[in-house]
Amino acid sequence: MENGERKQAKILGFGVDLMSFSEALEFTMNRLRAGQGFQVVTINPEMIEIAKKNPDFASVLNNAELVIPDGVGIKLALKIKGINQENIPGIEYSKKLIGLCAQNGLPVALLGAKEEIVQKAKQNLLKEFENLNIVYTRNGYFSKEDEESIKNDMTAAAPKAVFVALGAPKQEFMIQELKKSMPDAVFVGVGGSFDVWSGVVKRAPEIYRKLGLEWLYRTLKEPERFKRIFPALPLFLIRVIIESVFQKKGY
Ligand code: UDP
Repeated sequence: MENGERKQAKILGFGVDLMSFSEALEFTMNRLRAGQGFQVVTINPEMIEIAKKNPDFASVLNNAELVIPDGVGIKLALKIKGINQENIPGIEYSKKLIGLCAQNGLPVALLGAKEEIVQKAKQNLLKEFENLNIVYTRNGYFSKEDEESIKNDMTAAAPKAVFVALGAPKQEFMIQELKKSMPDAVFVGVGGSFDVWSGVVKRAPEIYRKLGLEWLYRTLKEPERFKRIFPALPLFLIRVIIESVFQKKGY
């Protein structure tokens, strides 16, 4: 995907970029090399539901330069619209991007999760990627008043790729602030990824992931999450079906 010729599908009014995993990484690296910073949103049905109620979040989604289809809910929604799109898990895209940063000498920042989690995630990433340069690390439990100093300290550290793990929509709003003073860096909201990278939370075994059932595994492990996410998914898909029927009829 080149700048200017963006291939997108709309789900309930929100754009999702259609591209392969490798194209998403290529797009990211091309922009970084050109010194053009930007925001990556790894979109899921929950985020679309939030955006429908929250205009500020809707505008973040509409203005993100890259919106990655993350998870089976978005994949199904696109399928309903007749589009076959590869699922690009945000956590995998981010890990690959960190590897590319290590290879290309681009400094990285990690912001979010509990202190011991983000420190352990940092250690594990440094073990995994030779030459990785992590120039800023901060846990995600801070007050509104701390935001300015976080922004100043991170800006002084001059990362080129910033991973923010505060959960949506908090992380996307924080990114909006941070990117003002770091216009040449890429910012990715990564949800619970640091928990996984720290080794504290396990990702689903390969077989669940291959079958698109990672959500089922996480549900079994975290029933609370199930209560939050599951009731929303069928409703989301019903709305997408209604939308696509109306679109076909030309309304
Ligand atoms: N988190 C944080 N600060 C907060 C709230 C959450 O750093 O004020 C972290 C939390 O510790 C976890 C991540 O944000 O590491 C989000 O996790 P969650 O699983 O809720 O996000 P999801 O993957 O569902 O977007």
